[in-house]
Amino acid sequence: MMTTDNEMVYLRRCIELAVEALEAGDAPFGSVLVDGDGTILCEDRNRANTVDATYHPEIAVAKWAAQNMTPEARAKAVVYTSGEHCAMCSAAHAWAGLGRIVYISSSKQLGKWMDEMGVSSTSPIHSLSIQEVAPNVPVEGPIAGLDEEIRALQQRSFQKNK
Ligand SMILES: [Zn+2]
Repeated sequence: MMTTDNEMVYLRRCIELAVEALEAGDAPFGSVLVDGDGTILCEDRNRANTVDATYHPEIAVAKWAAQNMTPEARAKAVVYTSGEHCAMCSAAHAWAGLGRIVYISSSKQLGKWMDEMGVSSTSPIHSLSIQEVAPNVPVEGPIAGLDEEIRALQQRSFQKNK
């Protein structure tokens, strides 16, 4: 499925949340949970430095969905996110029974950008694609054009932490 104009609004919101995270001292990641009718139900940003190390926005919205939505509504919901889910967040998304994921930039791209900048990964887990962790979740991404904006944000983040 191609991304629609509405979907671009959700993806742009993910970028805004990622900027907010970076400016607050967290890593630049943001996610939006949208129901089957296109209404934004929940959004969050990375808070791994300011709250706790597991506070990724993708797991935060999955937990919110698990606690606040029926299984039927969760299956129709879509998560838009600035960067592809890590293994922890892919698992949470799948256990919550959520629907499609649209990510702007992939984990593979992030790894490549870090290599190019000479930054070594501090991730304690394997970089797996969403499909490797959650094979039944429909996934779309990267989103050409917007991924360059994420690249710039990640570069700002790496510079800060160098
Ligand atoms: Zn994660």
